[in-house]
Amino acid sequence: MRAIVDVDGTLVDLHTPLVELLSRLYPEIPNDPGMSDWDWYKKYITDDQFYAAVDVLHELQLHQPPLSGADILFKILNKHHFEIIVASHRKHNTAHILSAWLIKNKLAPFSGVFTNHNKLDLIQDGCVVIDDAPKTIDYALQHGCSVFYLNWPWNKDKGGQGVSDLYQLIGVLDNERS
Ligand SMILES: [Mg+2]
Repeated sequence: MRAIVDVDGTLVDLHTPLVELLSRLYPEIPNDPGMSDWDWYKKYITDDQFYAAVDVLHELQLHQPPLSGADILFKILNKHHFEIIVASHRKHNTAHILSAWLIKNKLAPFSGVFTNHNKLDLIQDGCVVIDDAPKTIDYALQHGCSVFYLNWPWNKDKGGQGVSDLYQLIGVLDNERS
């Protein structure tokens, strides 16, 4: 059974440094922009401006620690014999940076690291998907997957199972599969 594990908003907090950077670059963006929907930035800046900042943070991410419990999440998925695929919506030629970050932080084992803009292709019927993005959650639910995500403002109305932190997710996965 495959488990697809997202990175930003799942294993690491991208959004705190992202909002910090964006509000420095574009003063019209407030320090606390709400983010109640996935495309919250569109009323302030273009997609190109937004993703340029995201790309910068992805390059700096090697120095950012994962969220607490991320290493245990990998161990629990491995204990239950999942094929762990780490999949992140980011530039396609950055898998080596992401792999280095995973290894540095002992986020292992994993069977594959995927960095591209079409991660939905990895989703197989009935697999486990751990991802905070509304579009991925909806797609995975349509394919009969078990879907889990950290609660963020942009996914509060979604199906699947939201959790408040990775320890809660670890508990749910371990109980469900035991
Ligand atoms: Mg994410």
